[in-house]
Amino acid sequence: MCEHDHTSGPVPQSQLQRRHVLAGAAALAGLGLASMIPAPVHAAKTNGDSEPAARRGNSTHPAPVIIEGGTLIDPTTGQVTEDAVVVLAEGKVQAVGDRASTRRAVAEYRNSATTIEAAGKFILPGFVDAHVHAQTFEDASLILSHGATTVRSGSTSFYQDIALAQIPKYAAGLSPRMHAAGLFVSPDQSDSILADPDLAPLASSRHQLTTVSELAHLTKVNISRGATVIKTRANPRAGLADQDPLELVYDRDQLAAIVHAAKGAGVLCHSYSAKAIAGAVAAGVQSIEHGVFVDEKTLASMAGKGTYFTPTLFGISGMAQSSDPVLAERGREYAPILAKAVGAADELGVTVIAGTDSFGTDVTAIGDEANSLAKAGLSQLKALQSITSAPARMLGVHKQGVGRLVHRGVADLVLLGSNPLERSTALSDVQLVVAQGAIVRNDAA
Ligand SMILES: [Zn+2]
Repeated sequence: MCEHDHTSGPVPQSQLQRRHVLAGAAALAGLGLASMIPAPVHAAKTNGDSEPAARRGNSTHPAPVIIEGGTLIDPTTGQVTEDAVVVLAEGKVQAVGDRASTRRAVAEYRNSATTIEAAGKFILPGFVDAHVHAQTFEDASLILSHGATTVRSGSTSFYQDIALAQIPKYAAGLSPRMHAAGLFVSPDQSDSILADPDLAPLASSRHQLTTVSELAHLTKVNISRGATVIKTRANPRAGLADQDPLELVYDRDQLAAIVHAAKGAGVLCHSYSAKAIAGAVAAGVQSIEHGVFVDEKTLASMAGKGTYFTPTLFGISGMAQSSDPVLAERGREYAPILAKAVGAADELGVTVIAGTDSFGTDVTAIGDEANSLAKAGLSQLKALQSITSAPARMLGVHKQGVGRLVHRGVADLVLLGSNPLERSTALSDVQLVVAQGAIVRNDAA
């Protein structure tokens, strides 16, 4: 569990690299990054004789990748294909399946491709981490290295996640596919007010954003800047010793105003107390984050409404190891309660999805969270789905091939050293990661 205050505050000096200054300048000018750089033009195929991509001001696709001889697993069904082949090229899956069905694509790309021998290994789609806070290229790279090729942001302090969301259009493998939240819709904005000139009207109440009009305004600015999800809260943070995570921050009416202003963008609601969670679910949020003290009545209501549950169980349990005695005690108290809630949610038909709450370079492997969910009662297949098909469906990207390797789907892939259908710890046994067609990790190389 990260103990950082996600709410706001300046970007640490060490993180103020040139790119962030550029993003900050764009933010202050009221421009998106996209308006400052040339439009992407993808070359049809890499051919080795091209001039450097940077000179042309656009990106080309990475060299094709052929993965062959591994066991392919379809997370939506658990169906297994032995001796499978996947051909990734031009940012897409060109072929996936057994040797016979992929022969033609293999022949087409063989000469230009990097071939990965995958015998004895397990081929999966890229993973999804449904709760991260990434603000730099380094954060993004660490997240990718654990196999999370698609992520949902739990907010950043200066719209860095919205900038990261644009990166894959121009350069493969530098950022996961980011569903950006922008600023945390939370009472204390502090210096985050300076992230956009349109937030200036909120300056006088920057430490106490509470009225429905203020909350709606911040939500709308986030959306206008390019946020595709909205992050808010119903309780304070558990990871800060001086905050009481059971105090009510926003009630049902306040949260409903945020959901309304989000205009269909999914709202993630950080919450801990039974009352707060009930209010958030009634307000129509898309997912409950953490949710330690959720009661059975609310779980039943979540199952009925299709509200997702992101318990961030690995992080909450990890608080028990904190050097701060208050947080350590909180971790010890919360972990078993949350594990029980995960089991109950699953039994009642709530879709549990995995999120690490990784913050900055403090990145947790998404496979470790899936493994924690399995220990709390999810089947091996559901643990696998919690980092693939389930969040892909929540984010509305399952048809693009996120969460499942399909012909013409996105070229995001993970190779595991052991079988995740036999033991969920295999989900942390990542040996190769391909993001947007680019190999971003290869332990065998
Ligand atoms: Zn968070």
